[in-house]
Amino acid sequence: MTEKFTGSFTQQEPISDEAIEAAVTVMRSGRLHRYNLSEGELGEVSLLEQEFATLAGSKFCLAVASGGYALACALRAMQVKPGDRVLTNAFTLAPVPGAIASVGAVPVFVGVTEGLVIDLEDLKAKAEQADVLMLSHMRGHICDMDALIAMCDAHGVKVIEDCAHTMGGAWRGVASGRHGAMACYSTQTYKHINSGEGGFLISDDEELMARAIMLSGSYMLYERHGAAPSAEVFEQVKYHTPNVSGRMDHLRAAILRPQLRSLEKQVENWNTRHDILLSGLRDTPGLTVVERPEGEAYVGSSIQFLLLDWTEVQIGEVLHRCAECGVELKWFGGAEPVAFTSRYDSWRYAPSEPMPATDRILKGIVDMRIPLTFSEADCALIARIIRSEISAVYQAG
Ligand SMILES: *Cc1c(COP(=O)(O)O)cnc(C)c1O
Repeated sequence: MTEKFTGSFTQQEPISDEAIEAAVTVMRSGRLHRYNLSEGELGEVSLLEQEFATLAGSKFCLAVASGGYALACALRAMQVKPGDRVLTNAFTLAPVPGAIASVGAVPVFVGVTEGLVIDLEDLKAKAEQADVLMLSHMRGHICDMDALIAMCDAHGVKVIEDCAHTMGGAWRGVASGRHGAMACYSTQTYKHINSGEGGFLISDDEELMARAIMLSGSYMLYERHGAAPSAEVFEQVKYHTPNVSGRMDHLRAAILRPQLRSLEKQVENWNTRHDILLSGLRDTPGLTVVERPEGEAYVGSSIQFLLLDWTEVQIGEVLHRCAECGVELKWFGGAEPVAFTSRYDSWRYAPSEPMPATDRILKGIVDMRIPLTFSEADCALIARIIRSEISAVYQAG
């Protein structure tokens, strides 16, 4: 008998009553803009920045309008210029090369390993081509950060971390986002905390952060920030840094603050679900699971597996059969970008050399979201469905 799953892959948990009440309080005040504060008030946005800096372990934090804005803002703060080349992952999502293109720079794509992390050999080969690496911890897979940072230091490459999928994760006990010069996070609905849209930028570097705050549209009101460098640092940058508005507002900050407090618990909830799926998929003939390296503290908000060297027709058949059973899988190997998936060679504004080893892996990556509205039993059922549909297609050869 074929089993069916009837849940939704895009249904989030509701916003908590505590967060809703905080949002209502902001709306009643009428003061939604981050710099619209009453006497002596720090405001939701600055409080959120302080709390996120504490959680991440960084000196400074800036809350912004989106994760993509944070990425472009980091590039601008690092003074990446039009025509500069910026190293980045071939396996990532559109906002990453998009941020690079938005400052007129040119992405140089670095390959992906079977562990779904950046290929350090390929990075080494390309490191001389750029001064900045925008490292995407795509789908929460964290590479050997000690090796990566050592390599980038040796080549004078500064690292911006894209932690859209690793908020709450760590490498060998160091929080994801604390290895590079700057790190960017997203609080968009499909990420780890949900304000519809939003993001963060963190850093310990005073000058980079002062520039980022000026860039975000602080109208010389930077002294109203709670997790910012001192006013003297702004003196050095304020006349030379353009305003590219992308602030966060109090309403979003109000609903994010309670969510930050429950992030750790949510990470546990994700990982319980992720691990049920992973063990349900292990040892399926034809399917390669992505085992997590020992040093990685991951956030299992999605799961990936590989159908290496399967034909497009076979993978299409698997996707179709799973969809018939209510299981929505995404495939990174499709020639056309679909919904959130896309491949480095589908970003036609960014020139790329063919990467056969990477193409083989991208062609096999199947990806699935794990919303927290799934129960543990749902995850076990989904794993059984995927396993049986894959087995059916695999046996048919
Ligand atoms: C979501 C995402 C971002 C940024 O997202 P916004 O939608 O702009 O908040 C950046 N990188 C990756 C890999 C993402 O998935």
